[in-house]
Amino acid sequence: MTARPSDYTISCIVPVHNEGPDILGFLRQLHGLLKKQTSRFEIVLVDDGSTDDSLFAVAAEAEALCLVLVRFSRNFGKEAAMTAGLQKARGDVVIIIDADLQEPMEVIPQMLEHWHAGYDMIYAVRDSRKDETLLKRIGVRLFYYLMAQGNSTEVPPDARDFRLMDRKVVAALNQLPERNRFMKGLFSWVGFRSLAIPVRIAPRRIGRSSFSFLRLAELALTGITSFSNVPLRIWGGIGFVISLMAFLFALYTIVKTLVFGADVPGFPTIVVSIMFFTGIQLLSIGILGEYISRVFIEVKQRPHYLIAEEIDRSPLRDPAA
Ligand code: UDP
Ligand code: MG
Repeated sequence: MTARPSDYTISCIVPVHNEGPDILGFLRQLHGLLKKQTSRFEIVLVDDGSTDDSLFAVAAEAEALCLVLVRFSRNFGKEAAMTAGLQKARGDVVIIIDADLQEPMEVIPQMLEHWHAGYDMIYAVRDSRKDETLLKRIGVRLFYYLMAQGNSTEVPPDARDFRLMDRKVVAALNQLPERNRFMKGLFSWVGFRSLAIPVRIAPRRIGRSSFSFLRLAELALTGITSFSNVPLRIWGGIGFVISLMAFLFALYTIVKTLVFGADVPGFPTIVVSIMFFTGIQLLSIGILGEYISRVFIEVKQRPHYLIAEEIDRSPLRDPAA
């Protein structure tokens, strides 16, 4: 294992979507904390199509806060914002943290210690979900259960996007070209020596979460379809079982007819079986469609995001450029 350099640089990526005026306070606090860790660092702020005006104030302080400000042309989602941040980040160590002060930035020094000790990725895991609704907790459990089925990439339950990564992890992530980006899956997929540390997630003080139940469900679907083909394969098994049942029923009917003669068949049986098998077929076509639509998104090869404006006041920028 190679020793970590004592003179290392840090990039801290912050995805932002309508976080209101509190963002400036958060950035000052983060700047103060990073300054204690190393002399050279940058904060990569990705404005994911915010429609409030809080970032105007931030732009004015870009120099003092060592900011790289990347403004998307519209809202592309947190996964795209993190992707952009990872591509812009230049530090030896890269940290991703939410802008809403829910995640405890005090653990960053602890994460750095683990990095010095040889870990390449140190990620936060929320210690409790007691503050969430029952419906969300059930949904989350179901999601991680489905993710674990026949999936070679183990996605640790309750992991946050809040994490610290070595440069080589970021280089690996930047090689992944897919459009259907479920970052928590990609973080696990790349591997490297990883360590989970439990953190307490504070309640949101202002504003509200951008992730509604529907949006979380959409993200979950992206996660499952991009990391598992069990939903596709399962239909082979179901088809086999149904065919077997049909064959046995045919045998039974032949024998019954030969022994007892033909009688008038029951309409309910026919109606129910037609409805049942149509349902099964539509369901399987629907799942097929889900995967095809994602293949369609991939082949279009559209960029992950579009940048409307970029301000670079990072001390890490190449002076020649
Ligand atoms: N975020 C973003 N783009 C979005 C939604 C959210 O960049 O489309 C940012 C948001 O500003 C915050 C982080 O992602 O910094 C987490 O969002 P949020 O707090 O709404 O999610 P939660 O904490 O409920 O998971
Ligand atoms: Mg939050």
